[in-house]
Amino acid sequence: MLKPMPFAVPDLGEEEISAVADVVRSGWVTSGSQMRAFETEFADYVGGDVQAIAVNSATAGLHLALDAMGIGPGDEVIVPDWTFTATAAVVCHVGATPIIVDVDRDTLNMDLEAMAAALTERTKAIIVVHFTGLPLDLKAVRAAIGDREIALIEDAAHALPATGTSGRVGSCADSDVAVFSFGPIKTITTGEGGMICTRHADIAEKCRLMRLHGIDRDAFDRYTSSRPSWFYDVIAPGYKYNMTDISAAIGRVQLRRAESMRLRREEIANYYISALGDQPIVLPPAIPSDWCSAWHLFVLRLRPDGVDRNQFIGSMAEQGIGTSVHFIPLHRHDQWKSHVSPSSVPVAESQADLALSIPMYSRMTDEQVERVAAAVINALG
Ligand SMILES: *Cc1c(COP(=O)(O)O)cnc(C)c1O
Repeated sequence: MLKPMPFAVPDLGEEEISAVADVVRSGWVTSGSQMRAFETEFADYVGGDVQAIAVNSATAGLHLALDAMGIGPGDEVIVPDWTFTATAAVVCHVGATPIIVDVDRDTLNMDLEAMAAALTERTKAIIVVHFTGLPLDLKAVRAAIGDREIALIEDAAHALPATGTSGRVGSCADSDVAVFSFGPIKTITTGEGGMICTRHADIAEKCRLMRLHGIDRDAFDRYTSSRPSWFYDVIAPGYKYNMTDISAAIGRVQLRRAESMRLRREEIANYYISALGDQPIVLPPAIPSDWCSAWHLFVLRLRPDGVDRNQFIGSMAEQGIGTSVHFIPLHRHDQWKSHVSPSSVPVAESQADLALSIPMYSRMTDEQVERVAAAVINALG
């Protein structure tokens, strides 16, 4: 029997280990010079002269972004149904109302007609998700909004590195803010972590202030500036969302490796697409030639008249292969049922029982990739 293969494994090695060891030996483990260097390198990486603000999760980053833009009670924020709960939960965290809309059948990204139909006088922001790392066309989103003053926030948890109509995701050419996740199975990881990118200096400043208790300068400054080290002033009821130097040191190594890890995932995706092309399943949509997908997830969809998803996942497990489901759409969760009815998200509802994700991570060997594809064919029976 072959060794069981987990659905996902972070790609961390000796370089990350020694970067962490250096931080631990330095005696400074929380937010400091590593975090700052990571922010600068990240901003350079995505381009667009953005400022990058490191936080301890994408959820924290999205919350800070909404908070910094002054979104709150009485405001509506449009989010896609096909996403992780955090995309909608942060809207509740600031006291606003998430308006959950349907998705496109091919990409499972937000459907722009559904989005346009959901716009009201109260719409203050739209959070788009680049599902699996395939960018949503932000120029088309902008065109659909027209000249209304609505903030555009990218939940870019899947999208490092990725390029769409607006250039590199994170450069914010057509958005106000983009937020990345460095959770354990995201495209780069810091254990847990996230990064806010924005071209707006005022939003960046507020996010920096609120990520660490609303203190007017962060702990590191206190030890390096000329003011007495004990002095600080609290000017807002802030949060505790800062990234540690231990995480940032891992992130700096991961960022340098981001493109080579993406290339490996792309290679695996292309193998799956050719090996599974004639199977009775729906494969990921084609990517426009001048775009680049982060290939965070490989999502396939079963046919409604074919093998049942539970059965398929069970068969994969019997063959020693972990799978996952991205996502159980929001409308299927108890928390969001009162916000959205299945009939208002017909596409998401029609796909909700069909989608599943198969392993696609940079540490997979060619042998493992072939084994997964063969197991899929076998499970389809
Ligand atoms: C993982 C994920 C998040 C949350 O990221 P954290 O860093 O775990 O907070 C948000 N949105 C989407 C689409 C995700 O996949």
